[in-house]
Amino acid sequence: MSYTEEIYDRVVAQNPGEPEFHQAVKEVLDSLKLVIDANEEKYRSVSLLERLVEPERIISFKVPWVDDNGKVQVNKGYRVQFNSAIGPYKGGLRFHPSVNQSILKFLGFEQIFKNSLTGLPIGGGKGGSNFDPKGKSDREVMAFCQSFMTELSKYIGADEDVPAGDIGVGGREIGYMYGQYKRLTGKYEGVLTGKGLNWGGSLVRTQATGYGLVYILDAMLKDHDISIADKTVVVSGSGNVAIYATEKVQQLGGKVVAMSDSNGYIYDANGINLDVVKDIKEIRRGRIKEYADEVPGAVYTEGKGIWSIKCDIALPCATQNELNLDDAKTLKANGCIAVAEGANMPTTREATDFLLAEGMKFLPGKASNAGGVGTSALEMCQNSMRRSWSFEEVDEMLQRMMNDIYAKISDAASRYGVEGNYVVGANIAGFEKVADAMMAQGTAL
Ligand code: NDP
Repeated sequence: MSYTEEIYDRVVAQNPGEPEFHQAVKEVLDSLKLVIDANEEKYRSVSLLERLVEPERIISFKVPWVDDNGKVQVNKGYRVQFNSAIGPYKGGLRFHPSVNQSILKFLGFEQIFKNSLTGLPIGGGKGGSNFDPKGKSDREVMAFCQSFMTELSKYIGADEDVPAGDIGVGGREIGYMYGQYKRLTGKYEGVLTGKGLNWGGSLVRTQATGYGLVYILDAMLKDHDISIADKTVVVSGSGNVAIYATEKVQQLGGKVVAMSDSNGYIYDANGINLDVVKDIKEIRRGRIKEYADEVPGAVYTEGKGIWSIKCDIALPCATQNELNLDDAKTLKANGCIAVAEGANMPTTREATDFLLAEGMKFLPGKASNAGGVGTSALEMCQNSMRRSWSFEEVDEMLQRMMNDIYAKISDAASRYGVEGNYVVGANIAGFEKVADAMMAQGTAL
């Protein structure tokens, strides 16, 4: 049995009931096989993989809060501090009813390699709660955020662990949590990223994941002499990543014809009117079906099925495992040439394998959505320097970062003889830096 297979079996045995974590570990280990096999003795001798798959620390806590009816509610809170070999833990907080330890461990594990790919000094972590902000009043969200931060504040800090937003955690939630952190610690420091612009936030952070996704997509397509201009694009989700991916595609001349939320999807043959989507989602916190009520000619369909819409490029930007094997086959049959992941692990393993086997261009999330965390690290930089860079400065750094990531993953894939396989390329390029840092720091982590 190979070292990577041994470690996968160990992870399954020692982490029962955590399918998402198993899935993420398997995907990474399978694609690291080439580099691990080539250096097996070196890594085995220091139990590198055993250490890599074990989080440094998991904090799990109770979050009691009072709802608008005066009733005490209780949620679960977590922070997974996975790996600090190359910098303080960094990764988002997710508030969604589906959140559990398995999902946060999968996200924290992936985050290690993603953060490494950015070229910036940030380790991997992730956290969140099974709290659902949907349908809650602002006061309820604030009460929850304050209680959550009261406990979390004991474990984070600008040089220890710097959380950010993720699903269900946007500017409003970051604001409530930052206020509470400051009140508890008396420190005005860059402990959270995604802050408001007039209290320590960075320009471009809001747009960063979506813009970054399209920058790296553009870099990959250009490398194959293809232009985004005039391409038809389908974007799933209508949250932060989806909205700004759509905006950048439109700026580069592409046409986004569909978007979705967890209830259904809209199709607009004329191209999505993003102002309407922003108004529904960013201002009114409404449902995507309202788009069809407001835009003549647009059609709303309840349920999944967005990948049945014919497109050249698919950008899954909603959630994990939202694009399965049947969807992948439909995309291929409809002439789609590229899939780039805006969300984390939105494509199932079977679907990814199919897309790669069919020779479709596929960018994995840990490379293609790294612009968000990369820009968060730029926010940390500005906070430490007590400075604010202009939109153009940060945008240029983001673009350079995404071009560099494409170069790194493309180079790693070629070095190991799997040219064009950016899944393998991203895992290897992300892993090499972390592995070197762990080896250099002895058995401390
Ligand atoms: P948001 O909460 O802003 O938006 C999420 C979108 O996905 C919403 O439209 C939501 O619909 C939809 N969605 C969520 N769960 C499901 C589901 N089970 N089925 C179908 N649709 C669903 O989150 P973000 O845009 O920030 O994040 C989207 C993805 O991108 C996540 O995987 C996240 O981890 C990843 N990501 C985000 C980064 C960031 O900077 N924000 C950075 C890197 C990765 P509804 O409103 O109905 O729930």
